[in-house]
Amino acid sequence: MTVDHSKANLYLSSLLNNNNIDDLDERLKPKHHPARKKIPLFPGITDKALRRRWEALGVSEGIQSVLLDETTRNTAGRYEKNIENFIGTIKMPVGVAGPLRVNGVHAQGDYYVPLATTEAALVASYSRGAQLITKAGGCTTLLLNQGVSRAPGFAFASVNEVGRFVSWALSQIERFREIAETTTRFGKMKDVRVTVEGNHVYLNFEYETGDASGQNMVTIATNAICEWIKDNTPVTPQHFFVEANFSGDKKASAQSFLGVRGKKVTTEVILSEELVKKVLHTTPKRMEEYWRMSAIGGVLSGTIGVQGHYANGLAALYIACGQDAACVSESSVGVTRFELTNDGGLYAAVTLPNLIVGTVGGGTGLPSQQACLDIVGLAGAGNAAAFAEVCAAVCLSGELSIIGALCSGHFAKAHQSLARGSVPSEA
Ligand code: NAP
Repeated sequence: MTVDHSKANLYLSSLLNNNNIDDLDERLKPKHHPARKKIPLFPGITDKALRRRWEALGVSEGIQSVLLDETTRNTAGRYEKNIENFIGTIKMPVGVAGPLRVNGVHAQGDYYVPLATTEAALVASYSRGAQLITKAGGCTTLLLNQGVSRAPGFAFASVNEVGRFVSWALSQIERFREIAETTTRFGKMKDVRVTVEGNHVYLNFEYETGDASGQNMVTIATNAICEWIKDNTPVTPQHFFVEANFSGDKKASAQSFLGVRGKKVTTEVILSEELVKKVLHTTPKRMEEYWRMSAIGGVLSGTIGVQGHYANGLAALYIACGQDAACVSESSVGVTRFELTNDGGLYAAVTLPNLIVGTVGGGTGLPSQQACLDIVGLAGAGNAAAFAEVCAAVCLSGELSIIGALCSGHFAKAHQSLARGSVPSEA
């Protein structure tokens, strides 16, 4: 967050040259005049609540009808458990990539992948990568590990108290498991990890969460454990919190990268030299050279993991399929590796340890999001593991396509023509 002194000086002089200092003071100070009309407190969805919210906004009927169209009005009840102060739905463009052949432990077959984005060239690029993988016979994909954690933190008066608390807590693990599992039919407590820092203790409770991505599930289960700890601990903490920012929820962290958060999946494909030339207009050798340079670029710039643009595909897929889009922060870390094979082809692998995805719960049952999961063919119970494997395969498609474009010199051209040029004619 530092900036060098010359840049700081430049910024300050431009600020002061363009603004009167008294005006700036006035703009930046707290203001105590009456606020605009309050959004009514009732957060649920009723006709009356909707009307009152739109009245409070005071915008035109035209604006209202864009967000609260007839379909949205007719299905409004389905959003009740997903949002407060509902005023309508936004429309995102959704495109489809594929077919993407996945030879997974759980995912098997050719998948069409809906991607919701406003970034031109994204769907075209992922679709090209998906078709390339399919032409090569598909990608071999394995779900390797699963676990979602909640990490309460407890503060004590001294390290001595911490020692007594930890030794008691470690003797209660079976009890913790029983308490957690009273709150859920599907969540299973797998492990508790302990981290001590001075007179603070972090207990990291890790769960398997069935077909749900599980963040609410683990919060509810861990909260029940914390309440029981509060009532039964032989050493009373000075204070505690159900989440002490140690679980990696909605942030990239070294801990989650080294372990698992959600689902860990690895996927690989081998492409012949001919296929790379035909589809990507470059060579495996050039792609390996690019990968090596970009891997070092990642190290030099301090990224967690080494990858090109997982966030592009994952954000678009998460939005389309009702996943928590904010979890792209942790999901889009991982490792991409390209290597030349002995016969001049390309070996490409992608490993993602933090895919926070589910096919039940969260936003997966909303009208458009469920429809997108239906297109993938993985809506509902029994499908989360396969969906995670598809997510990894989507990332592999994106890595192949973008690196291909960078190697062939098509990267800027594709963006320029698709985002700024005329619409391409149908082939
Ligand atoms: P959820 O919709 O709160 O819970 C999933 C529900 O599905 C549970 O009631 C579960 O039953 C039920 N279920 C039915 N069949 C299932 C199956 N086969 N496998 C697993 N569960 C099944 O969703 P969640 O996954 O726990 O949480 C995801 C949501 O949490 C997202 O909307 C996300 O945005 C939000 N979130 C919450 C927090 C937080 O700290 N609370 C943080 C980040 C994100 P049981 O009740 O028997 O388990």
